[in-house]
Amino acid sequence: MIRANDPHLHSWIQISPTSDFPIQNLPFGIFSTATRDPRMGVAIGEYILDLYAVAQEGLFDLLSLEDPTIFHTPTLNPFIALGKPVWREVRERVSVLLRNDNPEIRDNDAVMKACLVKKQEATLHLPIKVANYTDFYSSLDHATNVGLMFRNPENPLLPNWKHMPVGYHGRASSIVVSGQPVFRPQGQTKAPETALPSFGPTNELDFELEVAFISGRATDMGSFVMTDEADDYIFGLVLFNDWSARDLQRWEHMPLGPFLGKSFASSISPWVVTLDALEPFRVPGPDQDPKVLPYLTYDGHKHLDINLKVYLQPAEDESLLICQSNTKYLYWNMNQQLAHQTSNGCNLEVGDLYASGTISGSDPDTYGSMLEVTWQGSKPITLPNGTTRQFLNDGDTIIMKGYAERNSIRVGFGELRNKVFPTL
Ligand code: MN
Repeated sequence: MIRANDPHLHSWIQISPTSDFPIQNLPFGIFSTATRDPRMGVAIGEYILDLYAVAQEGLFDLLSLEDPTIFHTPTLNPFIALGKPVWREVRERVSVLLRNDNPEIRDNDAVMKACLVKKQEATLHLPIKVANYTDFYSSLDHATNVGLMFRNPENPLLPNWKHMPVGYHGRASSIVVSGQPVFRPQGQTKAPETALPSFGPTNELDFELEVAFISGRATDMGSFVMTDEADDYIFGLVLFNDWSARDLQRWEHMPLGPFLGKSFASSISPWVVTLDALEPFRVPGPDQDPKVLPYLTYDGHKHLDINLKVYLQPAEDESLLICQSNTKYLYWNMNQQLAHQTSNGCNLEVGDLYASGTISGSDPDTYGSMLEVTWQGSKPITLPNGTTRQFLNDGDTIIMKGYAERNSIRVGFGELRNKVFPTL
């Protein structure tokens, strides 16, 4: 039992029961304010605990950390590289400091002023330097839907799909944080009725609802992470929007898979929710039939029950909830993804991002992309302001939210929000 996850804990900070950031969560991120340069923080209710300030106040002195300035950093990578025992020790200590019976910060005005920052006064930054980025394709319903639309309605799943977590290597340089603009990409497209392709802004800009995990431990080339070791290699999770241009994708994807229709941007939520904080929300996965090969078998509950929502907000107008999905719909879990990723001896680095692939369920209101929601544009959606969408317009904002909930404890990710701007 991880003590920081105890549902009976309460903080001396007032936290709304609908907050994503109760004392049981304590996600890590990078923030700055007018007077604080970028540094590590932990989200708690409407506040951020400044970990560098906490270290400067001597409140981490009893921990095994050799260098408390590790928190004074523009990315989480150096901290993540310290390994799971240190992530745990710091999260447990933060939990103790924020508990209602602990006076160390609570009863010292000067320390409180130094350590607590109002979230509304802070800028949240991309929390990690993304080392490598893999995008899996692990939702059965999404893979089936795309197969129905892009390929063969008779046989939508390719023969390999139920035997391995299919994925591709994506682009790390264009991963941005919530709040950053997404510019409509240009590229080559070819309509079926024309002989030649043309070049211009995409007409089929889309989002993909995903979650991604961040690797916390490097491996050597040639070594292999087993499914039962994978938990020790996972630091935490973020919401992930894998922005996509479907018309570019359709024309370019054969034979080598996604390329420029995907690499123009992906966005992540700013707070990294640790795998430790999500342990209470484990659920069994689906029956995998046919049986998977031995290196992909696993024991225990390795799927997660995280509610996911997507809202589309047109410029200056009311938003519409267009999708409600859940990570428990995924066919392949993170442990299987990591075992498959390393099965050929490919090395892991600290700060790799492994995205799930679009997470769709079986009902149309659980579809995790416009491609599926509007069935390739054939069933446009109507927004509260009366306008319709097949794909995304300039000025539209996509808002993703995610939270797990049990025993009245809600562990969430906050928001992932990005607005679409015209081609630069
Ligand atoms: Mn994707």
